[in-house]
Amino acid sequence: MIEQRIADPVATVTVTIDGAPVTMPETATLLEASRAAGADVPTLCYLETLTPFNSCRLCVVEVAGSRTLVPSCSRMVEEGMEVQTDSDRVQHTRRMVYELLDSTVDLSLVDDETTRQMERYGVRTNRFGDGYRRTEAVKIEDDLYVRDYEKCIMCYRCVAACGPDAQNTFAIDVAGRGLTSTIATEYDITLPDSACVYCGNCVGVCPTGALMFTSEYRMRESGDWDEDRQTVTTTICTFCGVGCNLELHVQDNRIVKVTSPMDHEVTSGHLCIKGRFGYAHIQSESP
Ligand code: SF4
Ligand code: SF4
Repeated sequence: MIEQRIADPVATVTVTIDGAPVTMPETATLLEASRAAGADVPTLCYLETLTPFNSCRLCVVEVAGSRTLVPSCSRMVEEGMEVQTDSDRVQHTRRMVYELLDSTVDLSLVDDETTRQMERYGVRTNRFGDGYRRTEAVKIEDDLYVRDYEKCIMCYRCVAACGPDAQNTFAIDVAGRGLTSTIATEYDITLPDSACVYCGNCVGVCPTGALMFTSEYRMRESGDWDEDRQTVTTTICTFCGVGCNLELHVQDNRIVKVTSPMDHEVTSGHLCIKGRFGYAHIQSESP
């Protein structure tokens, strides 16, 4: 007899987002419900491929009856919730978060979406001065990737990618407390001496350029980095039979960095050292 498996039906709940009812699976988050309702909710630490960590607090929304604002990326929907995604209080909080970040770290390489949201909320640049700005030399310890923690917003994405969400290597974590906390290897030893296996998955999820291919870093330093002259070609890694998709970023006929699509069912954007960094032989000029 063939056993027939029938998935349990997923219960739904109805919440009100900005005055309009939205019905979602009970497993949905308020962020998913808000976006399903068409709300423009900014995020920075959140990434669909990682477990929400609630560190940036940009996705906060106002829930009726809740004393504090609620991080929508990790709060599940509950029947009857009434949610305001862009109230005065929410706008004030988001503007303040952006302004605190902008006054403490270098946001010059954040993505276009973050730039758009900062303009939307009227962020006042360097509002709190330079007194608490991170100052730290760029860590260049090998030819694969650099760490520039002056750009680090402590979103924890790299920690999650290095740890339980992808790589399970746990080479990096948060060290220190408060304003002096930082991402570090064990005892802050150099990457080559640490447990790092150079998969580059931390680089792949970093939203600020704090982690960057050494090739990109050097090209930016010399003024040669030009994304308008780059093409991105999707191909399949040839190093083993898993079949990871690679996105080859090419400028002037040379590969300048490698990523993988976030929505690829094999990789979810993650790779190993061979797929991520194993391309030098392709453009070797040695016979
Ligand atoms: S390269 Fe991979 S192993 Fe090394 S710190 Fe980044 S995620 Fe962890
Ligand atoms: S290094 Fe990048 S990914 Fe890691 S916490 Fe800092 S900003 Fe986030």
